Amino acid sequence: MIATPLQIDTSVSEPLNVLDLTPDDALLVLAEFMAGAGEARYRAAQVFARLWERPVHSFDDMTELPKGLRAQLADRFTMPRLALQERQRSSDGTEKFLFRLHDGQSIETVAIPEGNRLTLCISSQAGCALQCAFCATGAMGFQRNLTPSEIAGQVRELRLLDPPLLATNIVFMGMGEPLMNWKAVDPVLTLLNDPRALGIGARHITVSTVGVLPGIEALAARKEQFRLAISIHAPSDALRRSLMPVNVKYPLADVMQAAAAFDRRVTFEYVMLDGVNDQPEHAAMLSTLARECRAFVNLIPLHPGGSLGFTPTPGPKIAAFARAMRARGVEVAVRKSRGLDIAAACGQLRTERLGRRLPVVTEQHDDVHVP
Ligand code: SF4
Repeated sequence: MIATPLQIDTSVSEPLNVLDLTPDDALLVLAEFMAGAGEARYRAAQVFARLWERPVHSFDDMTELPKGLRAQLADRFTMPRLALQERQRSSDGTEKFLFRLHDGQSIETVAIPEGNRLTLCISSQAGCALQCAFCATGAMGFQRNLTPSEIAGQVRELRLLDPPLLATNIVFMGMGEPLMNWKAVDPVLTLLNDPRALGIGARHITVSTVGVLPGIEALAARKEQFRLAISIHAPSDALRRSLMPVNVKYPLADVMQAAAAFDRRVTFEYVMLDGVNDQPEHAAMLSTLARECRAFVNLIPLHPGGSLGFTPTPGPKIAAFARAMRARGVEVAVRKSRGLDIAAACGQLRTERLGRRLPVVTEQHDDVHVP
């Protein structure tokens, strides 16, 4: 539950996780605290700057504050860390981080450097309920939604490294379906974008979804120019249902309608599975869908390690698929497969380290929803 000032009962002694709050809410709560402590109001902004923009490990590290005030802050608030369990570096510079959460869950974050950009691929859920056939995270089942501080905290933790890793771009393409956890992703988008917090431009933040329609509407309602990527992966309902069970609830026609209505340009993600979705007729059908929505298409070579029985489409065949789409007037890019020598596919490192857990049955997904 995201606390807002109206919901915060200041009489309770339970410390409040200040990293779960949006900048406006955190500043209000901190200002109220400073007033109660007889401190100047500017101290609230001083503390807030040390949460996200120039983060510190603990309140005690806020050495610009008097020692007594730091101790009072630590009594009233928490700013929990994510424990770095493992860090793997690929020969192409891609790095993968496995974080352990307070309840023993593990999540993954991937850092992909390219020129002067550093893209972080962040997780929004521990596991995933949607069970896409080609995905290691789907195979491990849903464990729970992440909180705002656990999602934005992945970006914060990399800022705390020595030397720090400063993200220029964010993609919600790690573990989980972000639009099934909108109540946390919504404030996280604010934290990522707000210049007082992480300050990453909205156009550099991409929310990737399998097509959860209420979530797409909620994202479209945000005034910032956040980007939307839709995982298509199959251009017909029959094939898509076999690869992505979510297609039963959100069929392609509805997803295409939502994509066409989105007021910014949408990207289609399409993972290339050898002999499954990479035939000439698939290129033709995908081109029709992309043209309807004026979508840009990313063809993604399957990461071999996370493939669960599928094999990657060979490079020349991907190139031919891209050519066939371009000939139909569609803008297409073939993504480079990064981190091939580490477990960089979604959910793969966690699966290797922890083994597979039994999926949670659908009835238990009581908090998997969007408003
Ligand atoms: S591809 Fe995404 S939505 Fe599908 S199972 Fe994996 S994490 Fe979930």
